[in-house]
Amino acid sequence: MAACIFCKIVKGEIPSFKLFESDKVLAFLDIQPLSKGHALVIPKQHGEKLVDIGDDALAEILPVVKKLAAASGAENYNVLQNNGRLAHQEVGHVHFHMIPKPNATEGLGIGWPMG
Ligand code: 5GP
Repeated sequence: MAACIFCKIVKGEIPSFKLFESDKVLAFLDIQPLSKGHALVIPKQHGEKLVDIGDDALAEILPVVKKLAAASGAENYNVLQNNGRLAHQEVGHVHFHMIPKPNATEGLGIGWPMG
């Protein structure tokens, strides 16, 4: 989709710090990280919500999230995936957040999904 920020990242039109790339999936660092190593994992093909993504791409995404969680070295981390504005989705291209928690005593430390 022409105006989609994450499609532009996939095409290299917007720079990103890439962590993983395959034919179907891209992972990169979040531009406004909630913690060090906050990563986003997306299907390369555009789809707004989870139900818009093919099972083949979805099947590749969770193992990448798992690898990033392991690579972060964090014992505590959040994996989040928002669908729709009321669910705090800001970018209309499916993405999974992997958010390491550097300090377990800090609480969840993020504004959503509760906010
Ligand atoms: P959402 O609220 O839609 O689940 O999260 C969207 C995420 O995308 C936010 O954490 C935001 O910081 C991130 N983001 C938005 N624009 C860009 C961008 O241009 N580059 C990168 N790397 N992340 C972005």
